[in-house]
Amino acid sequence: MAELVIRHLSVAVQDKMILDDVNLNIHDGEIHALMGPNGTGKSTLSETIMGNPRYKITDGKILMDGRNIAKMKIDERARAGIFLAMQYPVEVAGITNADFIHSAMNARTGNQNVPVLQFLDQLHQNMEILNIDPAYTDRGLNKDFSGGEKKRNEILQLMMLKPTLAILDEIDSGLDIDALKVVAKGINSMRDRKFSCLMVTHYQRLLNYVVPDVVHIMMNGRIVKTGGPKLAMDLENTGYEKLI
Ligand code: ADP
Ligand code: MG
Ligand code: MG
Repeated sequence: MAELVIRHLSVAVQDKMILDDVNLNIHDGEIHALMGPNGTGKSTLSETIMGNPRYKITDGKILMDGRNIAKMKIDERARAGIFLAMQYPVEVAGITNADFIHSAMNARTGNQNVPVLQFLDQLHQNMEILNIDPAYTDRGLNKDFSGGEKKRNEILQLMMLKPTLAILDEIDSGLDIDALKVVAKGINSMRDRKFSCLMVTHYQRLLNYVVPDVVHIMMNGRIVKTGGPKLAMDLENTGYEKLI
């Protein structure tokens, strides 16, 4: 199962109320898009679902397969199958890309370590799908990667970790059309009844390649409109202000 239910969620950062009564229901196997102007709370929602302690839940519930995860730590949520591709992936010089992904996989599977050769084989297969140079196996995590390389590397992690719920925060930002298609191919390869996904994006363009089941518009910390893929197209024509 991979069902996310968010009920009456309100979130504050440094005592400032950011999210106000957010409700969201992603059923098993669905891909939802979350759109909205800058500063509206999309990353706040993403980080809150993942469990970043900076974001304080002041009200409401986050249920994953019926279980309230709101009090779980980040690592527990990762073990429960939640994955966040951050809007700004962090660079870490001291750990290689491969070691990072391998330890994340080991953490996810508990005590059962993923055999190294099998891991490297899978890693290189996925790198090929994503047009990532195999030399990036041993580079520092995201260290001196370009914006687009960081985004493709997030999708590499997604494909290796196989979470049940993925939150992709502006995975399309800064991508040229070829890289966008590659990223979309990676996301589409995950489509499964046991995989659900929340894609945060400013642009309809990504949604031509990864067609969402549901589109939500967020403004000022609230979801103000929900519809199908056509909603994103209307938005492209009218802009946010006229849409609601
Ligand atoms: P979006 O992703 O939709 O652009 P954000 O969730 O990043 O919006 O930001 C929503 C609001 O919360 C903004 O006013 C932003 O300044 C504030 N905010 C977000 N994260 C933090 C933080 N870590 N510290 C202080 N303010 C924050
Ligand atoms: Mg933003
Ligand atoms: Mg953001």
